Amino acid sequence: ASLRTEKFDYIVVGGGTAGCILANKLSADGNKKVLVLEAGPSGDAMEVAVPAGIARLFAHPVLDWGMSSVTQPQLVAREIYLARGRLLGGSSGTNATLYHRGTPADYDSWGLEGWTGKDVLDWFIKAECYADGPRPFHGQSGSMNVEQPRYQNVLHDEFFRAAAAAGVPANPDFNDWSRPQEGYGEFQVAQKKAERADTYRTYLKPAMGRDNLKVVTGARTTKVNVEKGSAGPLARGVEYATQQFGERYTAELAPGGEVLMCAGAVHTPHLLMLSGIGPASALLEHGLDVVANLPGVGANLQDHPAAVLAVRSKPEFEGLSVTSEIYDAKGNIRVGAVIKYLIGRNGPLATTGCDHGAFVRTSAAHSQPDLQMRFVPGCALVADGVKAYVAFGELKKQGCAWPGGITLQLLAIRAKSKGSVGLKAADPFTNPSININYFSDPEDLATLRNGVRFAREIVAQEPLHKLLEEETFPGERIASDTDIEEYVRRTVHSGNALVGTCAMGISPASGAVVSSADLKVFGVQGLRVVDASVLPRIPGGQTGAATVMVAERAAALLLGQTTIAPHREPVCA
Ligand code: FAD
Repeated sequence: ASLRTEKFDYIVVGGGTAGCILANKLSADGNKKVLVLEAGPSGDAMEVAVPAGIARLFAHPVLDWGMSSVTQPQLVAREIYLARGRLLGGSSGTNATLYHRGTPADYDSWGLEGWTGKDVLDWFIKAECYADGPRPFHGQSGSMNVEQPRYQNVLHDEFFRAAAAAGVPANPDFNDWSRPQEGYGEFQVAQKKAERADTYRTYLKPAMGRDNLKVVTGARTTKVNVEKGSAGPLARGVEYATQQFGERYTAELAPGGEVLMCAGAVHTPHLLMLSGIGPASALLEHGLDVVANLPGVGANLQDHPAAVLAVRSKPEFEGLSVTSEIYDAKGNIRVGAVIKYLIGRNGPLATTGCDHGAFVRTSAAHSQPDLQMRFVPGCALVADGVKAYVAFGELKKQGCAWPGGITLQLLAIRAKSKGSVGLKAADPFTNPSININYFSDPEDLATLRNGVRFAREIVAQEPLHKLLEEETFPGERIASDTDIEEYVRRTVHSGNALVGTCAMGISPASGAVVSSADLKVFGVQGLRVVDASVLPRIPGGQTGAATVMVAERAAALLLGQTTIAPHREPVCA
C-alpha cells in the first residue's frame, strides 16, 4: 500500500539516537505499525563505523546538518558551528562515542518524580551491554554496547601520571555511582570491538526486516498535522518531503496512534513551532496558527561550551602522537594503522581521539566537577577544537605532516548558560535561529578560564613536561585572567551536547513542554517528544547515554506502562 493510504500506530519523526530505539522496541511484537521518517541517509558509511572517521563527519556535506548559531556578540561576533548527525542513528552516528551518565545528583537536581538518580540508574543498566564486565553499576544484557577504549598510547599514561602529580585522584570508572565523579581515567565508549555502536547499528538495523516497520530515508518532516477536535488538539499525522525529488507526502496515524518527535534538540522544537505548537507570540509573528501556546518550546537550550589548550611536542617525540600514528609525512593513512584496526581491532583508528581524560572541580565552591578535560594525544592546529578535527580530516588534501603534541579540550560540563531555538521563517526548509548564548552565566566562563590554568598545571608536571615544548594555544603570553577570558571568547566551540528545548516537567507554567509522567506534549493529544530536548537540565557528561535512557523508558511506557514510575526497592519476603 502506498503511504497515502497506509495508516500507522506510531510515526517516529527522526531516525536518530532515540528514534532508532523506539522503532525497534515498538515494532518488536508485530502488533503495531511503525513508520520512521529520517531526513538523512542510512548510517552504513565506513567513516561512521570506524571511530577515527569522526574527523570526516564534522561538517560533512551529507551526514551533518551544517548548522551554526546566530552571531554571538559576546563571542567576538562569531557564529558557533553546531554539529548534528543527519543519518539513521542521528548524532549517535557522528558523535565521539564517549559513554558518560553524569552523576545521580544531576538527575536529582531535576526535582521530577520518577527521574531521580535512583530511578534512572535502573534504566541505564538495563540499556547497557558492557563488554569488559561484569562490573558494578553496569549492565550486560541491554542493546547499547559499551567497552573500555581500545587504543592505548604512551601519552595517555604520561597524562595520567601528570594529572596524579597535579593532585587529581585516579578514577577507574566514571559511571560507578558509588564514588565521586572526580578523577582521571579512561572514558568508556559506545563501541563494539572498536566499531561505533550507534543506535542504527545496535537497535534499528536488526529490526529492519520486520513487515510492520517502515523506514523512509531522505524524508524530511515539515509539519505535524494537528486537528482542532472537540476534545482539544489531536495529532493526525505528519507532512514530509523527499529530498531527492522534492515531492510532498502525508503520513497518517491510525485511530489512537501517536506521533513521536525524535528529531533532536534543534529540530524537534523547530518542527513543533512550524506546527503551531510553541510560544504564541513567535508563532503569530510568522503568520502561523496557534494550536497550543507553549512558551517552553525552543527555550532552555543548554550545551557544554569548550576551549582547548594545545602544546607541541619536542621533535624527538613527534612520532608518539595519534595523528602521527594515523598519517605519514605526506598525509596518507598508514597501512600499519589499517592492519591494526582490521586484524587487532585496536590501534589509532579505533579511537575518536578523546577517550581519556579527567573530571575536576576548578574551584572549591563547586560541589561536583564543573570541568571535563578530554585528553587528545595530538596537537590541535586550530584553537577551535571542532575545527581542529575538520582540519585533521582534510589533511590528505594538504599533503603534509601533522606536528606532534597534545591537546586538552576543556568543557564546562555543568554549564548554567541558556540559549534558545527560534523561528527564522515559517518555511520548514530554513534552519531555525539558534542562539547558543554561551556565558550568559559568567560562571561558565570562569570554569573555562580556570580550566586553562589547571590544564597548564598538569602540562607543567614532569611526565608531560619532559616531552613537550611550545604551548600553541592559548600561547604562553596569554597569562592574565582577562587575556585568558578573551582567548576563550575568541575560540569557544560546542561540546555538542545540545539539550533542554522541549523540557519535561510538571506543567507549562514552569516552562515545561512535555509531562515528566509520560512525555506527552501539554495540550495536544497523540504527540510525545522522546529525544535529548526533554532533558530539563544538562547532565555533567556527554548526553548520548541520557538520551538512550529516555528512549528506553519511553518505549516501556508506550508498551504498557501507564506513567513513569518511581524506582521501588525490591520488597524482601
Ligand atoms: P539525534 O541523534 O541527533 O537524532 C535526530 C534525528 O532526527 C537525526 O537523524 C536527524 O537527521 C533527524 N531529523 C531532524 N530533523 C528532521 C526532520 N525534519 N525530518 C526527519 N528527520 C529529521 N554524546 C555522547 O554521549 N558521547 C559523545 O561522545 C558525544 N559526542 C558528540 C559529538 C558530536 C559531534 C555530536 C553532534 C554529538 C555528540 N554527543 C555525544 C551528543 C549525543 O550524540 C546527542 O545528545 C544524542 O545523539 C542526541 O540524540 P537525539 O535522539 O536527541 O538526536
